[in-house]
Amino acid sequence: MQQNDPRPPCGRNDIPLLCLLDGEPISHFRLREFENPEGLAMVHADTLVSLEKTRRDLCAMHRTDVWIIITNAVRTQADLERLAARLGWTDQGGAVARDSRHLARYGGIAVDLIAVTAATRARVPQKTLGSVCRRHFDFVKDDYRDGHVHADNRFRATPTQGGRGAAASNSADPWVRSVRSV
Ligand SMILES: [Zn+2]
Repeated sequence: MQQNDPRPPCGRNDIPLLCLLDGEPISHFRLREFENPEGLAMVHADTLVSLEKTRRDLCAMHRTDVWIIITNAVRTQADLERLAARLGWTDQGGAVARDSRHLARYGGIAVDLIAVTAATRARVPQKTLGSVCRRHFDFVKDDYRDGHVHADNRFRATPTQGGRGAAASNSADPWVRSVRSV
């Protein structure tokens, strides 16, 4: 690879992400889908589960395979400021929140997404995607002009006093506990 080659190194974050849905292992997302422009990636375990449930519902609803495309996930402060320079801060009438749940300090709880049917690449309407996301995420915003949906798990990922996620301390699932303890 040439030094100024803009393409990411082969294999970077090319790792399937596994979660349990109703006790069954399932994997439709790869870590690279959650990268920032520099290739840093972070995704919360609950957010992965919410995405898999959203995908499952959309496939059932459309009676065909539906792809969820993550258009933006974790952001550094520099990523946020670059985005705000383009789209504006919300307190100045733009689309970018200063306290964005995409920031790394929130632990990878937020995603921006669109969805298309696999066969025809037809876009799932923004409001349809938004309403399905509302079943599985804590907070959803689906009125962006470019048609994407924002979804995050701002409530369930709130740390308890011990610093662990609230759901982790209640979880009887050893697999979930072991994932959260790393
Ligand atoms: Zn967002």
